[in-house]
Amino acid sequence: MARSQGIDPFAETEDQQALRALARDVATRELLPNARHWDETETFPQASWEALRKAELLGITTDEKYGGGGLGDVEAAIVLEELARVDVSSAILAQLMFNGPPRAISHLGNDTMKDRWLPLAATGEQLFCIGISETEAGSAVNHMRARLSPDGDGFRLNAYKNYVTGGHMAAACLVWCRFPGSESTKGIGAVLVDLTAPGVTCAGTHVKMGLRGTSEAELAFDDVRIEKSDVLLWGSENSTDSFKTLIAHINHERCGNAAMCIGAAQGALEYAVGYMSERTVGTRTLADFQGLQWKIADMTIKLESARMLLQRAVRLAGEHGTPPPLETAIAKAAANEAAKFVCDEAIQLLGGYGFSREYPVERIYRDIRGLCIGAGTVEIQKNFIGTAVLGGAKPVGGAWK
Ligand SMILES: Cc1cc2nc3c(=O)[nH]c(=O)nc-3n(C[C@H](O)[C@H](O)[C@H](O)COP(=O)(O)OP(=O)(O)OC[C@H]3O[C@@H](n4cnc5c(N)ncnc54)[C@H](O)[C@@H]3O)c2cc1C
Repeated sequence: MARSQGIDPFAETEDQQALRALARDVATRELLPNARHWDETETFPQASWEALRKAELLGITTDEKYGGGGLGDVEAAIVLEELARVDVSSAILAQLMFNGPPRAISHLGNDTMKDRWLPLAATGEQLFCIGISETEAGSAVNHMRARLSPDGDGFRLNAYKNYVTGGHMAAACLVWCRFPGSESTKGIGAVLVDLTAPGVTCAGTHVKMGLRGTSEAELAFDDVRIEKSDVLLWGSENSTDSFKTLIAHINHERCGNAAMCIGAAQGALEYAVGYMSERTVGTRTLADFQGLQWKIADMTIKLESARMLLQRAVRLAGEHGTPPPLETAIAKAAANEAAKFVCDEAIQLLGGYGFSREYPVERIYRDIRGLCIGAGTVEIQKNFIGTAVLGGAKPVGGAWK
């Protein structure tokens, strides 16, 4: 069928196309063959990490001055989409590197911190993790207990962080915590903690429905010494500024989360399309049934809508900015819901085989289910979108001017 030759508003540059091709190649050759294995055995996808490191993909958003690629959210989304298309457990490692602590250090860190950690991020020598959630403070992050107390010219950190992706394997954790005198969102800042420091223990890992290659850890910090140079962002008891900066920075992670959902859903959709052309029911293939063609149409509509919303959010970030909050929340919620719908329908289209662990679609469904909770749940995105729009905020573009 001939396609119209208009202007593609989301056309990729030659460099971006090359990056996508590289990510797809690594994903297909190195990640795909082991995806089921990591899931079944619940083992860390070390071979995926090595493959991504060898392909120099792990440092693409790290500051160029420290050996990284210095790329932005558009490129991060391209790679995450391609990796998650075959294995979300492996893609999430790249997500931590692209949109987690290394990016925050590149943007907000002091020189000592950058010199120490960014070369390790650029080469993929070490994994980094993020400690925000606590057992009593997930969505209600303003109820966090993690606290610094003064200790000479530095601090001591006491905290218990829950659901830290990769926390059992990472070298350092970006910990959100209260500075002395902090109440509510005033005085919340962040420190970078060397996970080999005295007082840090991994209390365990969660046993989960999906994303079973990369565990979520519980990390305990007991009187851990924090130097001034370990402070990423100082919290002041009189100000919410640092908290707002940290929340804004999560928009990188939310866009990465959306990109993984879109990639995973793309993988499930492609699998279902291939299956429908081959599977015969009586004398006809599944692809012949109009009722099932409509399912493919609905899956495509949802997926492409989410993809375009993500494109808007990441392109608005510019080269080194932060994706804007409203467009990011819209994209994250849309991508989470699209992925849930698409993966669920893919299982349905495969019938009994869709429900079988021998076929990949049920794994993809279980994996993306976690992404609808991590980086701020769908409900929290909708709280923000609703209050923002009711308060007069307008997403960029179209009739909202
Ligand atoms: C796969 C995965 C990876 C994760 N990785 C990390 C990580 O690396 N670092 C980290 O710090 N955390 C991580 N998390 C934790 C995640 O951020 C929290 O699980 C999430 O913020 C929700 O918090 P909670 O689990 O305490 O649920 P709760 O906050 O208890 O929420 C329970 C339910 O109530 C809803 N809800 C809560 N408040 C409201 C409200 N005001 N209005 C409407 N609905 C509401 C929620 O949407 C949810 O459906 C991860 C989680 C998952 C699943």
